[in-house]
Amino acid sequence: MVTLTIDGKVITAQPNTTILEAALGAGISIPHLCYHPKLFPIGSCRLCVVEIEGVNEPMASCNTPVKEGIRVTTTTPLLERLRKQALQYILLNHPLECPICDKAGECQLQDLCHAFGITEQLFAIETPSFHTDYSSPLIEKHDARCVMCGRCVSVCTEVQGVHALDFVHNGYQSRIAPVSRNSLDCEFCGQCVAVCPVGAFIDKLFKYKARVWQLTKVSSVCPYCGSGCGIELNVKDNRIVRVTSDEKTTANRGNLCIRGRFGYGFVHNQNRLQSPFLMQHGKLVPASLHAVLDFAADAFKTIISAYGPDSIAGLGSPHASNEDNYVFQKFFRVVLGTNNVDSIARFNLLRGIVSMNHSIGFPASTNSYQEIERSQSIFIIGSDFSAEMPVASLPIIRAARDNDARLIIAYPLHTKFDAFATTRLHYRPQSELMLLAGLIKAILECGLENSPFIQQYTENFDRMKETFSGVALDAVASHTGIPVALIEKAAREIAQPATGAVICGDSLLRELDGEQAVRAVCNILLLTGHIGREGCGCFFSTARNNLQGLCDMGVTADLLPGYRSLSDNNELTNLWHRNIPVTPGVNATELIAAIEQGKIKGLYLMGCDPLMSFPDAKRTRAALSKLEFLLVQDLFHTEAAQMAHAVIPVASFAEKEGSVTSGERRIQWMQKACEPLPGVLPDWRIVQELSQRFAEPMDYRSTWDIFQEIETAVPQYRGAHQAVKLRHGVQWPVAEDGTGTGRYHLSTRRARFFAEAWQPARASGDESLPFMMLSGPSLYHCGTLSTYAEGPLSVRPVPWLEIHPQDASRLGIHENDIVMVRSPQGEIVCRATFNNLLPEKVVFVPDHFREASPATLTAVSSTCRVQIQKKT
Ligand code: SF4
Repeated sequence: MVTLTIDGKVITAQPNTTILEAALGAGISIPHLCYHPKLFPIGSCRLCVVEIEGVNEPMASCNTPVKEGIRVTTTTPLLERLRKQALQYILLNHPLECPICDKAGECQLQDLCHAFGITEQLFAIETPSFHTDYSSPLIEKHDARCVMCGRCVSVCTEVQGVHALDFVHNGYQSRIAPVSRNSLDCEFCGQCVAVCPVGAFIDKLFKYKARVWQLTKVSSVCPYCGSGCGIELNVKDNRIVRVTSDEKTTANRGNLCIRGRFGYGFVHNQNRLQSPFLMQHGKLVPASLHAVLDFAADAFKTIISAYGPDSIAGLGSPHASNEDNYVFQKFFRVVLGTNNVDSIARFNLLRGIVSMNHSIGFPASTNSYQEIERSQSIFIIGSDFSAEMPVASLPIIRAARDNDARLIIAYPLHTKFDAFATTRLHYRPQSELMLLAGLIKAILECGLENSPFIQQYTENFDRMKETFSGVALDAVASHTGIPVALIEKAAREIAQPATGAVICGDSLLRELDGEQAVRAVCNILLLTGHIGREGCGCFFSTARNNLQGLCDMGVTADLLPGYRSLSDNNELTNLWHRNIPVTPGVNATELIAAIEQGKIKGLYLMGCDPLMSFPDAKRTRAALSKLEFLLVQDLFHTEAAQMAHAVIPVASFAEKEGSVTSGERRIQWMQKACEPLPGVLPDWRIVQELSQRFAEPMDYRSTWDIFQEIETAVPQYRGAHQAVKLRHGVQWPVAEDGTGTGRYHLSTRRARFFAEAWQPARASGDESLPFMMLSGPSLYHCGTLSTYAEGPLSVRPVPWLEIHPQDASRLGIHENDIVMVRSPQGEIVCRATFNNLLPEKVVFVPDHFREASPATLTAVSSTCRVQIQKKT
């Protein structure tokens, strides 16, 4: 530590901090404008000048490092004069249009002028010509208001890794402009809006909606992906008018992506379900909640008395809260008496965490996202992680660019991170498992394994080694399309650094052999010893915000809350005062076949639409039409809702309180920001109302009541009540004193290598179909929810297909043409978008739009072969 004196106060600071940071940390205020705690200082505004004893000139404190023994003064007549002068220069061309500027009330320049008593513009100059760019969606750029602090350029480059903005021209003609020199065409994360100290970058959705002092800021959690970004819902007159995030108190450091910042519009979408519906004479007609619940209870009771409780199944929701999901699974187990309760996590996250649990006894991502920044090697497989989880992925940029980490990206498509990668493995679609086997073999063959770690902490190594001895790298190369030398290079970059992280993406998890692929990843982690330490570990993509919480709550047909086996039910039996069925239920991957076979007669969907999220929508539709009773509760009139016998509207995340758990196990509390429509209830209340029509009613008084029960039911959550309502929440498992766990620690239990028979990836359908289609998340949308929100829609309004221009040209397709995509399962229509980084004969379709869902085309996973044709 370094000791220095600021304004007579002796303080200590880390050696690499600046004087400004040391002062702010010690509660000493120094005026500043261009400095931002998230960014490298550029010292352009000169407001933070201080005097240092023995130094002739005042120094900018934001980029002067602390030094042992220095004596700093922050306020002298000279410094006051210099600061006032600096402000006068900034005001030279700054229009005083505060009455119509959205930043008024939170403008740092306004505050500084007020603090320094600047009442007039001293210097007159010829008014220069400035441009205001209204052309881009979501963000407006007012050059005249710009103070050239460079924060927008820095955040776009340093934090986002995008570099869409830069300084152009020199001297007095200097401006901030899009690098493309056209209108802003970027990720539309809005980080430039967030860090701009004045009103140069403006959120177009917020413009003229409110003055900032009219807003109430309510803490919540982004409803989209599992990055779990803390947000503030800015509310006026019961409506959300913008979303912000606090960089000081949130785990995401105030970073948001387009979905979190601009995607709130679905809450007030006029197509929200506003009334319950009942099917009458083949049509859904409005009905009272009371009537719908009575009808649903009678329907379930009739089915149970005819076929037994195991004839009813339910799917929970990765967008509902922990409390909603906990009550939902309890309804099935305690009220209906079946374990037939599951979710779409069965198609992705569960494949990962089940394997991880078998290997190291930890059912989740092992470390915190921020730790990735300190990994010396990062291996991403089966993922465009920057699109799946934009904010969780940001530390990768710092690690690769600033800390020189090895970055190995394995994915068939080009991703944003390819620009930072040290090795790119663009394998053939569906050959992930083969590639992982090749990497394991290469690690063993090159003697890269961490023998001391293996000896001390693992078991089953010899058997695993024996299993992989049959893998031939030549065969791996010909199957995956990755040369042996590149596989070996990747193996070295993964294994040799002292610390390393592996990120398993959505595409890896969604393949049929996803679970086996994660077992191979576990083998790599144990071979390299990259587990249980800072900067090491495994991360799973959680492309929906409460996917982890949903699994934690036991919305799993074969596991009770807290990942207990069905036979380990003593504690829960005592807690619930009921016997719990011990036979595993029908899980999501078995559900459609079970309906087809007549085993499932009634289905309850809570915030889940299998027609969008299960493969083979045609088969799913046919199965749903066979049900004797289908109950749907959701925000919108989904595809499944249109087939339902009863539909119930629910409150959105902003209209209720509750907890959600991010992909890094962070349990956070969402506060209620708006009143829902009259009669619209949170999911758990609807489930509870339904339970009260059965012999085993539930009777919770509040969300907090349920959370307290969860703390008993889910061992990992015990003690979480002490910190869950803090802004950054708490990561499970929680210690007795309420402290969370950022990182999995090695325990006395030996981690287990998987030595199973290794299966090559299976063929994927009809080879006569010329294109391989990959589908999944994209940056601008998340699930279907964002397609009800004005912000993301303004950037990506219609379904699209990404295709290489040469492939398109062979088919006579021009950019923006409407194309028909066909597979044996069905066909969809979307707009062609050119992507010249795609491999030949590979196309990508995002999975957001109901009218062009890839689920219509796929058979068993998110990948399939298709035919493409220009639509005439
Ligand atoms: Fe953060 Fe994900 Fe929301 Fe984007 S979508 S703001 S990354 S939680």
